[in-house]
Amino acid sequence: MKDATSDPNSPAPLMAAWNTESQVHLIVGSNPLAAARCAKSLEVGAKPIILAPETADMHFTLSEHIANGSAQWIRHEFQDMDLTTLGREEVDRVVDLVFVTLGASNPLSTHISQRCKRLRIPVNVSDAPELCSFTLLSTYSDGPLHIGITTSGRGCKLASRLRREIAAFLPQNLGTAIDRLGAVRRRLWEEDNAAGLSEATFDGEDDDTTGQKHTFNNLVTEGDVAAAKTRRVRWLSQICEYWPLRKLVSITDADMDTILKAYTAGNEHTNGANSVDTPSKKGKIVLAGSGPGHPDLLTRATYHAIHNADLILADKLVPAPVLDLIPRRTEVHIARKFPGNADQAQEEFLQMGLAALKQGRQVLRLKQGDPYLYGRGAEEFEFFRNEGYSPVVLPGITSAMSASLFADIPATHRGVSDQVLVCTGTGRKGAAPNPPTYVPTQTVVFLMALHRLSALVDSLTSFPEGGEQSRALWPKETPCAIVERASCPDQRVIRSTLEHVCLAFEEAGSRPPGLLVVGASCHVLHNPQGQRWAIEEGFHGLDELRSEVEVVADSVEEKA
Ligand code: SAH
Repeated sequence: MKDATSDPNSPAPLMAAWNTESQVHLIVGSNPLAAARCAKSLEVGAKPIILAPETADMHFTLSEHIANGSAQWIRHEFQDMDLTTLGREEVDRVVDLVFVTLGASNPLSTHISQRCKRLRIPVNVSDAPELCSFTLLSTYSDGPLHIGITTSGRGCKLASRLRREIAAFLPQNLGTAIDRLGAVRRRLWEEDNAAGLSEATFDGEDDDTTGQKHTFNNLVTEGDVAAAKTRRVRWLSQICEYWPLRKLVSITDADMDTILKAYTAGNEHTNGANSVDTPSKKGKIVLAGSGPGHPDLLTRATYHAIHNADLILADKLVPAPVLDLIPRRTEVHIARKFPGNADQAQEEFLQMGLAALKQGRQVLRLKQGDPYLYGRGAEEFEFFRNEGYSPVVLPGITSAMSASLFADIPATHRGVSDQVLVCTGTGRKGAAPNPPTYVPTQTVVFLMALHRLSALVDSLTSFPEGGEQSRALWPKETPCAIVERASCPDQRVIRSTLEHVCLAFEEAGSRPPGLLVVGASCHVLHNPQGQRWAIEEGFHGLDELRSEVEVVADSVEEKA
């Protein structure tokens, strides 16, 4: 392995969770570091063997492990044959892993490293990255959850600081919650399998609001028992993916049962909200947009609405940091939208909202981005108005305009683009909408389009065989960009042209939600000259505007 500290272009390491139970780990040396390695081996269920001469100064914790039998001491200097004789019988006595703690300058370290590499035995030599075939991660564990950090040898202090910060960010009891959700998931799969209902894969099946797969439009009917069951599994994956962690960790087994039972029965929305008491005040409803992702992009009006609501009905794309702003006392529901359930989820929300309004409660219907831009906002407005509760509608920053901005793409630019078109890549019932005609000075933003990117790009740049030929086609060299998770910490921008964007996206893999921007304005501020595409990761703009004190104060407030 190359010295990771000396080469900024060294490839990423393969990070993996490795089951080392019952393995034999050879630890060469007897110093404090050897003691730490021994502790690690024991922690992961392996059997450590300490290799050090009789005269060695044995670290006291090592002596303890040796005394209580958890570690074995082989009392001699390293010999080549140790590597192939001290291991487990079932792997022909070859040891499973070697830790050398003698330091980089000891010639034996280089020798052992070379021998191990030749024998394909993973080897770690302390303070000598060039002699290691693997390095240990700074880890954080909570039950079944394990997080590992490496800075590729740039600083173990920094790695452990990052570990602490990441751990502090996670809610307490996350491990227990993962166990609980895992058990429910297993139970559902077992039940479904027993009933012959095992579904291939559903994880990541719907990666946009309206879903991405061909199955999206297969309506799941109430009478369809098979579908009803697999729907529970899908609902569980939705919970795992979209509920704020804080809410996830607070669910109990009993809650889980209720959620799932209620789901099958289709009556979760009653939720105590169907009392027949006559309310003393009239219910109010606010229909608000929550912006593209970052919580600072909420309007103050929506922020106040979040704090004043008795019941919040949120779309699943509403970003978790926005949901985190909801006071704990407030009842929250997240739409159970997934392929085949969009209409049912919508209806369920409308009924839940209405029941609460009849009780005189203040309801907030929280949508992603702007409520009137591909958000079915006006349909909901009409529904509630017909019931006698006209909503107050609050705008949100739409992803359609802000994603391009956060990707440094000006929607209009003098001499380049003088008009903007926002369209959808998915029409009603999943049909492909008509592609827009080529206008050289237009910036076009396609929402809900990435799941059928190549079909969309084909339709922009060529005519279907034997189909219409009336509009102007977009030249293949037209600049374009894919902007995903705009304003979230994992924002990604892929800049390319219509010719190469599909391949770029295929190689990068999707990170929903995302949209496609097409037009000359895409290359005004950044031009991946000479490259077929360029990928940029991350979003920092807004946090840099805030003082550190504010950020810390916020996180303290959130934890309180
Ligand atoms: N009402 C929303 C749009 C809902 S349609 C708004 O005004 O933003 C959902 C589509 O919005 C997704 O398929 C995706 O194309 C786009 N989208 C939403 N949030 C996004 C984000 N943070 N980054 C990129 N695209 C996003």
